[in-house]
Amino acid sequence: MSDKPVFVTKPHLPPLAEFIPYLEKIWESRILTNCGAFHQQLEDELGKYLGLEHIALFTNGTIALVTALQALRISGEVVTTPYSFVATSHSLLWNGIKPVFVDIDRNTLNLDPARIEAAITPQTTAILAVHCYGHPCDVEAIQIVADSYNLKVIYDAAHAFGVEDAQGSILRHGDLSALSFHATKVFNTFEGGAIVCPDAKSKVRIDQLKNFGHAGEVTVVAPGINGKMSEFNAALGLVQLKHLDRALAQRKRIDAAYRERLEGVKGIRCLNGAGEKVANYAYFPILVDSGYPISRDGLYDKLKEVGIHPRRYFFPLISDFPMYRGLPSARRENLPVAAQAAQQVLCLPIYPDLELSIVEEIVQLISSQ
Ligand SMILES: *Cc1c(COP(=O)(O)O)cnc(C)c1O
Repeated sequence: MSDKPVFVTKPHLPPLAEFIPYLEKIWESRILTNCGAFHQQLEDELGKYLGLEHIALFTNGTIALVTALQALRISGEVVTTPYSFVATSHSLLWNGIKPVFVDIDRNTLNLDPARIEAAITPQTTAILAVHCYGHPCDVEAIQIVADSYNLKVIYDAAHAFGVEDAQGSILRHGDLSALSFHATKVFNTFEGGAIVCPDAKSKVRIDQLKNFGHAGEVTVVAPGINGKMSEFNAALGLVQLKHLDRALAQRKRIDAAYRERLEGVKGIRCLNGAGEKVANYAYFPILVDSGYPISRDGLYDKLKEVGIHPRRYFFPLISDFPMYRGLPSARRENLPVAAQAAQQVLCLPIYPDLELSIVEEIVQLISSQ
């Protein structure tokens, strides 16, 4: 097959020469962090790009999530999905909050709003949902449950950069959304993240929390953390942003190529979006069901043998890790849809400069078992 290994993703980078002038400015100014000029500029430009007014940059997505929960003063129990990257639930444990796992929807693999109500107790204060693979949650149904029980809604939007519904960015839903700009994400700053805030007032509080709780030179108003994005990462983000539309268009082409070629392969289901108006094609998940000649893990091994490295996102479920599996809500009987998805899913390689000939070869291998 291809001579080099093909991984599930390859971090997207701009031409190095475009980044050098930014580094020269940083060297000249000696402003390396503490919300300098590039930090301000990236907040502004991301706001314009996403059509959102209040964005607080962070050092990574996990600290953004932890801080979002702090900002809303969430405590007690939070309803969440077991089908995500482990940072989603870890952000709860870091706040001393008990996760309550609720099963996912069969079609989107996002938190199933119809099952939330049964998991609510007097201790429940919030819902922490994930736009898994960048496919939007049923935000309206989630908000209805939240409103009737007076719960906050936080979205882990680590996968959902640039995704839009008919009214605009899906990041405007809920009380806060947390983004990740990690190397493997659609928009990366090496490491980085952000919180999307509904208004200027909540951004002020979040900006204080990410800066040790400082509200001025000699005033500290909260036990904040160091969540600031450095000038290096912010400058890189500015350069990345210039190339993003092209990268998204390339991802779209690869997504379409997979779909067209995998159609009709027995036992393979390509996961569809959730009706989003603008998708970001962050991942290409397929589900390998019992109609396929070999198991998901069998296919995973076959691909690896020829240098193709898909990932089993998300397997194991978060609720199966040692720090969660003792929770009553982590029981398998409570999470049948998630448990099945974790056994069937395989995320195929997708990144902007993935050659279509490799897509062709991957599909050939999948359809010839
Ligand atoms: C990547 C990711 C995170 C963590 O973001 P980092 O920037 O790596 O800290 C959180 N949740 C989900 C769903 C992710 O995919």
